[in-house]
Formats: sequence, structure tokens, C-alpha cells
Amino acid sequence: MSSSPAVLMRLMASAFAVAERAGGIVRDIMKTGDLGIVEKTGANDLQTKADRLVQQCICSSLTRMFPKVTIIGEEDLPSHDVEENLIESGQFEEILQRVCPGEYSGVREEELVVWVDPLDGTKEYTEGLLDHVTVLIGIAYDGKAIAGVINQPFHNYELGPSASLGRTLWGILGVGSFGFELREVADGRRIVTTTRSHSNQLVTECVNAMEPHQVIRVGGAGNKIIQLIEGKASAYVFTSPGCKKWDTCAPEAILHAVGGKLTDMHGKPYRYHKDVKHMNSAGVLATLRDFEFYASRVPEAVKQALKSD
Ligand code: AMP
Ligand code: MG
Ligand code: MG
Repeated sequence: MSSSPAVLMRLMASAFAVAERAGGIVRDIMKTGDLGIVEKTGANDLQTKADRLVQQCICSSLTRMFPKVTIIGEEDLPSHDVEENLIESGQFEEILQRVCPGEYSGVREEELVVWVDPLDGTKEYTEGLLDHVTVLIGIAYDGKAIAGVINQPFHNYELGPSASLGRTLWGILGVGSFGFELREVADGRRIVTTTRSHSNQLVTECVNAMEPHQVIRVGGAGNKIIQLIEGKASAYVFTSPGCKKWDTCAPEAILHAVGGKLTDMHGKPYRYHKDVKHMNSAGVLATLRDFEFYASRVPEAVKQALKSD
């Protein structure tokens, strides 16, 4: 048996280290007070200097170590040389020590696709809602989200200036998810988490059809999946196009690795091959438990409006 860890474990160990570096960049740019905001398709679709530098950091660092992996990042950036100080070459030792699940141990570099959202919750970042922000690195094999890393750069910021900021969550199918305490919502309460900045009538209609005890409106796909696995919400409902493959790949893998489920509004899984359409056109429905209940409550009008691919 070869002594070198499987490619998936090496890639994940690197992704963890790169995500931590990325979190530091996100904090540093906020500290400078100059976010360099650019509108992409409109005022609700922004890009900041942090989105740009973090994408360069993640994509260039991983490409250097894993040149045959396909890496797809959210931001459309001009291709030029990336500054050397943005390159991270570390690896998280704890992941290297783990045993790779048998079904992935023979996977080759060129069979893996990495989906990168350098900053998820950009709108909230520009508005100072800092704990909504995450950095997402998802890994897909054979079209399936199998592993992911989420860095939350401002975790603990509400504890005040002396708090140590940031954390990294990671998960691999067949291994589990780590970096947080897995909890379920108490007493079977239905707490629906949904978008705060991309809502519309269909979103509201679907959320109400779940007969929630409480609705939480926060930014970021990564942030909402963290709410599910930490017992702060029981379902993530987004009945609109707008969310993309880089928003869902890492969160989906981490959720699935602890027994949860993320699909479109019809209960159909998303696929993450390198040539898929980026848009998650048929919305997002995710739960840690009781998926069937929430899926059964999706109104027919929502299903009609959001066709699966
Ligand atoms: P939200 O829950 O609104 O924070 O959305 C989760 C992710 O999907 C974020 O990365 C958003 O930028 C993206 N997203 C959702 N809806 C839209 C939209 N209408 N336009 C652009 N991005 C969107
Ligand atoms: Mg995003
Ligand atoms: Mg983003």
C-alpha cells in the first residue's frame, strides 16, 4: 500500500489551509475600510476586493499543488500572475491523518472538480453583517458533492474586540463533518431560514407553506447550512434562481456527511460536473432532518415556476 495519502485527502488538507488564509484576507480587507465594491449584474449582485483577492488566493494556490484538478470560481477575473504573497502551500495535518473512504481512494486528480465561492454573502459583508459571510470550497467527483470546507471569517465577532475570530468547518462523505457541534432544533420546532436580500413573492409563499414557528432571514448559502447543522434552523428554503453551484457544493457535502439533504425544490439533487450550468435554477431546499415533510409542503405554483434542469 502506498504511504502517500489519497488525492482527495491531500486536496482537502490543502483546501482547509487555503480557506483559513482566505478568511484572514477577508478580515484584513474589512479592516482597511476600502472594500472596492463593484456591481456585477446589479445592486444585489456585488463584488469586492475581498471576493477578487480571495479567489486568486484559492484558485492559484490549489492549481499550483493540483494542476490537473478543474477549479471553477465565481468571479470572472482577468488572467494575470497572482502575487506570491497570496499563495498558500500549507496542509491541515488532521485531514492527512484520516483514512480516505474506499470508494474515493483511487480517484485521480483529473476526476475532481472544485467549486469556489471566495466570499459568500458579499451583500452582507458590505453592510457589516459579518457573521453571514463565509468562504466556500466544494469538491465534486462523478457529479456529486463529496467534500467541502467552509471558513467563517468573523465567527465570534459579536463577543467583542478581544475575541479570537474565525473558524473552519469541513466534511467528507463517509468520514463526517467537523469544526462545529452538531445539534438539532429543539422540540421539533419548524424554523425556516431563507434569503434576506434576494426575496420575492414566491419565496414568501413557499416559506409560509411550511407553517413555520419562526422565519430567519440571513445572507449566504454557507451561513444557512451552518444554521441547519448547529440546530438554529430546521429548513433552508430558497425558491428562486440565483444561487449557483459554488454556493451549494461545499455546504451540501458538509450537510450530507452528517445525514442531511440538499436538493432543488422538486427534491432532485444538483450535479457538479465541470460542464454543468452554474445556476441552481430550481431553487434550494435543505434540511438536517425531516426533509420529506418540507418537500411535501412545497406549493404546486412554486414547482411550476421553478423547473428542474
Ligand atoms: P442569499 O441567501 O440571498 O444570501 O443567497 C445565497 C447565495 O446565492 C449568495 O451567494 C447570493 O449572492 C446568491 N444569489 C441568490 N439570489 C441571487 C440573485 N438574485 N442574484 C445574484 N446572486 C444571488
Ligand atoms: Mg455565494
Ligand atoms: Mg460569492
